Amino acid sequence: MSLFLCLGDMMGEAKLKRSATQRFIEQFPLCALCGGECASTTREHMPPKSLFDKSHRPDKLVMPACAVCNGGTSKADLTAAMVSRWNYNSPHQEREDHSRLANQVRIQAPELIDEWTKKDGFDRKGALERLRRYGVEVPDDASLIRVGPHTIRQLNIFAHKAALCLHFEHFKKPLSNSGRVFCSLEN
Ligand SMILES: [Zn+2]
Repeated sequence: MSLFLCLGDMMGEAKLKRSATQRFIEQFPLCALCGGECASTTREHMPPKSLFDKSHRPDKLVMPACAVCNGGTSKADLTAAMVSRWNYNSPHQEREDHSRLANQVRIQAPELIDEWTKKDGFDRKGALERLRRYGVEVPDDASLIRVGPHTIRQLNIFAHKAALCLHFEHFKKPLSNSGRVFCSLEN
């Protein structure tokens, strides 16, 4: 009897020692980002903590991801975090976070810095007029940054990832790569 209790206690302790990630990937063994084609080995957070002031993110919206998908979307996370802080008159914390993120971009994605700082052929006046035509209020002395294919690619990846994560959050299973989401007009 005592041996049985002892074994029971050991098993309970072992269970407690398993990390939150281990428990999570046991519950959700397939990667939510590549259509469930790979086994999940990590917990991916969406939105990523880099989008929040001082990286303080609420601990919600967690999804299972394989290491390739998790690591492969970090540049997209970084790009979205930078772009989300491009405001005229940004508060102090946003400017501080922006400069910290810019240092990461210089290391991880120098092609983005090149794209944002390239001035050749940049028509500032035309860009201002275009933004205002679309209803964006831009002060005359605002700095403008040009985005190109590198930035757009990363933002597209980020948007794609957000859609997959929202699907997982709602259905608790990956969206199949061959599947589609239908909306019923009757509901
Ligand atoms: Zn994956």
